[in-house]
Amino acid sequence: MKRLFNTIDEWKIIQDKIEFEENRLAESIMSIGNGYMGMRGNYEEYYSKDSHRGSYIGGVWYPDKTRVGWWKNGYPNYFGKVLNSVNFIGIDVYINGKLLDLGKADVKDFYRELDMKNGILTRKFIADIDGYKIEAKVTRFLSIVSKELGVIKYEIKSLNFDGEIMFCPYLDSNVKNEDSNYDETFWVNVSTDSKNNYGNVVAKTKDNPFNTEVFTIASVMNIRFNKETKLNTYSNREYYSDNTLIFDIKESETVAIEKYIAITTTRDYEENKLVEKAEYILNKEINKGYETVLQEQIKAWNKRWETSDIKIDGDDLAQQGIRYNLFQLFSTYYGDDSRLNIGPKGFTGEKYGGATYWDTEAYCLPVYLGTTSKEVSKNLLLYRYNQLEKAKENAQKLGLEGALYPMVTFNGEECHNEWEITFEEIHRNGSIIYAIYNYTNYTGDYEYIKEYGIDVIVEVARFWASRVHLNKRKGLYMIHGVTGPNEYDNNVNNNWYTNYLAKWCLEYAAENIFKLEKECIESVNRNNVSKEEVKMWLNIADKMYLPYDEELDIIVQHDDFLDKEFIKVNDLPKNNLPLNQNWSWDKILRSCFIKQADVLQGIYYFNDKFTFKEKKRNFEFYESYTVHESSLSPSIYSIIACEIDNLDKAYELYSRTARLDLDNYNNDTEDGLHITSMSGAWLSIIQGFAGMRTNNQTLSFNPKLPNKWNSYSFNINYRENKLKIEVNKDGINITNLEGNDIEVNVYDKKYIVKNNEYIAYRYVALS
Ligand code: BGC
Repeated sequence: MKRLFNTIDEWKIIQDKIEFEENRLAESIMSIGNGYMGMRGNYEEYYSKDSHRGSYIGGVWYPDKTRVGWWKNGYPNYFGKVLNSVNFIGIDVYINGKLLDLGKADVKDFYRELDMKNGILTRKFIADIDGYKIEAKVTRFLSIVSKELGVIKYEIKSLNFDGEIMFCPYLDSNVKNEDSNYDETFWVNVSTDSKNNYGNVVAKTKDNPFNTEVFTIASVMNIRFNKETKLNTYSNREYYSDNTLIFDIKESETVAIEKYIAITTTRDYEENKLVEKAEYILNKEINKGYETVLQEQIKAWNKRWETSDIKIDGDDLAQQGIRYNLFQLFSTYYGDDSRLNIGPKGFTGEKYGGATYWDTEAYCLPVYLGTTSKEVSKNLLLYRYNQLEKAKENAQKLGLEGALYPMVTFNGEECHNEWEITFEEIHRNGSIIYAIYNYTNYTGDYEYIKEYGIDVIVEVARFWASRVHLNKRKGLYMIHGVTGPNEYDNNVNNNWYTNYLAKWCLEYAAENIFKLEKECIESVNRNNVSKEEVKMWLNIADKMYLPYDEELDIIVQHDDFLDKEFIKVNDLPKNNLPLNQNWSWDKILRSCFIKQADVLQGIYYFNDKFTFKEKKRNFEFYESYTVHESSLSPSIYSIIACEIDNLDKAYELYSRTARLDLDNYNNDTEDGLHITSMSGAWLSIIQGFAGMRTNNQTLSFNPKLPNKWNSYSFNINYRENKLKIEVNKDGINITNLEGNDIEVNVYDKKYIVKNNEYIAYRYVALS
């Protein structure tokens, strides 16, 4: 754990000194995005020290040729990479002819803040360059009102001299992915142009042998300023376009430029219209004026917070943590485009490539269900529905039936090449069905299943039916050769979580077919499901093998798990952690240590199927061997810890998930933020502390208050209702802000909350 920024503000992330050693970590934390594009917190100015410059555009990726030692049949040919794209923030600054290099200049009073309430990143500092002192203020935001727009305002005040300030704003497409397999660049220059106060760069992704989509991107900049220039010129070359503006400056005077950038891509427009479209957007926005554009951004972010903010009284670290998580999650995805999804690193880094993982369905979907409109969540389901044909091809490639969704994808094809992940972590197929169940159950929208969902449910059931085998000696169905969510144990037999999920998928498929036979026979016929097939699914489900140990009275993670040598995490020397940075892979695989929730992931999903005692026994056993080296892990453990009344543990794990990046728990935040696991902080509060569940079509709460907190409150959308929930030391208030009267269960007691009224539940009433 390493907290870089120690000044804690509930709405802001504050950096109060320039960071050289941990600059990459600071860059990750100060990332911003608007769902369409995003970037690491790089500086506008030249910076000669270590930095990872990165700007990324949603859905713009490249299939990088697979690199492995020994090729195995079935390996995907490429590894999909989110593309580091045009550097459009760059502004070189010269003070009296000397380049301002933030890596070398004498910098004082450095202050940077990420204002999460308003979606704005600002920076201030004083720099001394050969005795010339300036004060700089830089404001940057990516608009959530006009998705293609980025805005930067750069102000410089002279503190002790009369002289010259030169600004060179530029666009540069000659950028590279740090994680390129063969050290290749993926961009080809198309054209560049510049004139006074204007520049553009058009670049496209290199042709590739895999016939995946080629993207062209146009970046266009317009420069505005408040003072007459001494010189105003421009230049351009391959990949690059700039302006040069020189201003006279007097002591105490401030000069400023505004750089407006629009990024358009062939995902939305024809190639020959890209520049024109970007110019149109820029004209429209610039005509509004800087202040208006800024105010619109502030208003739009404030509106998002109205429905999603969580207030915690009594714990600033926890408060800042949850807001940071929601801010970064919403900066990555807010449901505007069903072709997009939520990459584990979003727009903040390259590792994990911005591709789609099971994280979306398992972790992120509930947050969007609770905080945004139903359409946003539906878009996430449609994303998978639209990739069903590819998932069928993927299963066929392995000689299996039905559909196997990829573990990692951009366009529906598998694009990750670690065998144990790509081919063994087939549990992801179950989460895709669980998400359909979750959505339907939460929203009450069964139409989705009739129109789309059932096709996915059936094909996934077919996959499981072909992936199991019958163990004749035991008369049970088994699933061999898998990796469960715990990636620290590969190629195991009968991973309980996978088997349980497969069984549930088969039963859920049958249940829906029975229902649809009555309500929408067309959807059953469309999928050619026969009575025999459903019978076969139910037979497999009925005879699915689920490893259990009678003596310990616990679920067994997989067949051989209990044969390992057992050492508790607390008994490991501290300097062994994180294991993935200190131990060989061989040692990790043979060990008993668990990377992330595995058995507990299943107990979390099907929380109403397990008793308090079962949860407690399994939690206590598995928690002591879990190292939480996946960012996805602590939230699930925190939720179960709440269920078994272990509030201190729940709080400890909440902090770990909510401040995972702010406190760099896993020692890898410099690579980028853990965007998908940011949802974990919301899950831990809403499903953990507040105990919200929607089982059996009923909304229920089982709230608990961590000792450190005075109170917490949040809003949720549930079906047609908007509710406000407040939990404090005296009890719980549930207010029906909007919608018809609604039935809510609190600690298993039924209440009707009338429109515009609230119920108050006092703990005293409990005794
Ligand atoms: C986890 C996976 C997860 C991936 C992306 C890995 O470290 O083990 O479960 O899907 O990260 O977040």
